[in-house]
This record gives sequence, C-alpha cells and structure tokens, in this order.
Amino acid sequence: MKKKILLLHTGGTISMSEDEQTGEVSPGDKNPLASTPLVEDPTLTIDGVELFNLPSPHITPKHMLELTNFIDQQVKNNTYDGVVVTHGTDTLEETAFFLDLTVQTKVPIVITGAMRSSNEIGSDGPYNLLSSVKVAASKEAQGKGVLVVLNDEIHTAKNVTKTHTSNIATFQSPQYGPIGIVTKRGASFHHSPVTDDKYTISSVSKNVMLLKAYAGMDSAIFYLFKQMEVDGVVIEALGQGNLPPTTLKGIKALTESNIPVVLVSRCFNGIVQDIYGYEGGGRHLKQFGVIFSNGLNGQKARIKLMVVLETTNDIEKIQSLFLR
Ligand code: ASP
Repeated sequence: MKKKILLLHTGGTISMSEDEQTGEVSPGDKNPLASTPLVEDPTLTIDGVELFNLPSPHITPKHMLELTNFIDQQVKNNTYDGVVVTHGTDTLEETAFFLDLTVQTKVPIVITGAMRSSNEIGSDGPYNLLSSVKVAASKEAQGKGVLVVLNDEIHTAKNVTKTHTSNIATFQSPQYGPIGIVTKRGASFHHSPVTDDKYTISSVSKNVMLLKAYAGMDSAIFYLFKQMEVDGVVIEALGQGNLPPTTLKGIKALTESNIPVVLVSRCFNGIVQDIYGYEGGGRHLKQFGVIFSNGLNGQKARIKLMVVLETTNDIEKIQSLFLR
C-alpha cells in the first residue's frame, strides 16, 4: 500500500526565486516547489498544502500553534503516515522545537528548508525536500520527535541550530551531532533521543523576553521588564551560568515578582549549573530562584518557557520541566 505524506509549505528561501538582474531573493506568486518531481514517486501519495508563504523572520509563535493544530487535525482526519514541513531557515529551529513540544501525533514530522533559492545554481531545496520525504516515510523515524533534515543529515529539533549565514551545511547539533544520515537508499539512524517532552496547549499568549549577558551588564533592562509586566525572561548567561554582580538587583526584582527567569549559557556547548559561589555566580542566582535549563539554546528556551507558561506558573514545577 502507498504511504500518504502531507507536505506543508510555510515559505522561506526554499520557496523563493532570485532576480537574475538585481540578485534580490524574494517570494513570488507561485511556489516553485509545486512542480517538484517528488510527486512522481510511485510508492507515495503526497498531498501538498500551502499553509503560509512567509519568510521565516515573519513567523510568530501564533503561526507555530496554527501549524501544530493543522498537523494534528490533518493526520487524524486523513491518516497520513508522515508530515514534511518546508520553512525558512532563519527561525526553522524555533518552529521545529515548538512542534516537538506541542504536536500530539506520533507519525514522523520532518522540517526542511534551503540556503539557495529555487533558480540559483546549486539550489539545495528540491534535494532537501526529497531527503525529507524519504525520512518522513521511513518507519525508523517514528518516535524520534520532530526531525530537521537538510544536507543529508537528520537532526533532532531539540539540538539543532543554524550555525552559518549562507553555507548549505548550516544546520548542526553542537555537542551531539546528527542522529542519522540520508543515503540514496533512505534514512539511516544511528542514535535515538532519550526524552519525550510534550504539552497540550490551546493558546500561545505569553510575553517572554530573551537577552544575552555581557561584561559590565547592569540591572536597567530587568527593571524595565518588570515595569512591562513581562511573563518571563530567558538570559543567555556567561559560561557555566553566571552573571555580572550589577545585574543582581534587577534579577531579584523579577524573581520576587514571580516572573520566571530562565538561565541558559551563551556558550553553544555544555549546560548551566549552580557551581560558582561568588557574587553573581550560579549558586547565588539559584538562591534567588533563577531557573537553570538543561542545554537548550536561548531561542529554544524561550519557546519552551512560552509553552510551559500556558500550563503552569509554579516556579518549582517550571524548574523541574527545564531539567527534561
Ligand atoms: N531569510 C530566509 C528565511 O528564513 C532564509 C532561508 O529560508 O534560508 O525565510
């Protein structure tokens, strides 16, 4: 029996073309992927849907939730065996992780994109799309969470990040590497994720800020966040999870108001821990009620805090969820 794949387009370079005169890359009226030879694969039925046609800097958490709901509903109503989503690469990792946390269906979901638009020499879009369909149709992709497939590599939504502005090998999973590769014969996995972190949400309404710590940072921005009554703050802290002492008053103002402050590291390898006992060190921050994350990068910790805050405001509970 033929496998049924749902192919959802959301926009991005993979759906754009380059103007030969000016070099400008932009979306056109027709998605160039509509004419991909993939639809001729005799073992698959592929239903294409153009959900959005947006550059990924235009994608918001509301679009992500719409995507979650659409996927769950379509898989249920039409018994799809797998889903492929095409997306701009700039915020691809955020959408992938959002889906990973919120989609309920167990069928494989693969997100892909391209670094070169449809009519550029060496365009990587059609090839990445073909690889993604192979992965989404494979039995082995089941139970591995949302996967990101580009450049012959299979990455988890949780670990992958965009590492290069233009190179087609931009998507990497620092510290962990890909969990599989795509060959001419199909998907070949060599690792499996160990965590399954799922939330059922019906809205995405929280205002969560993300900022990077730096030498000499002070408390001003944290007082401003308090005044703005934000719902949460994620800080890309220094090293193993430390901040300049001049930030402490501001951080305390937030935690005393029950505004969750989640710490990740601005280092792209390793996790944050409450190790250092000096002023502004991790020990100190932990005593203030700062929440330590378990290796997520800043943009993904922000997505997770937004999702988690739809389910609980309890700081201890949030801390336990960030250890997953
Ligand atoms: N700026 C583009 C986007 O994210 C980049 C891409 O798709 O690769 O939509």
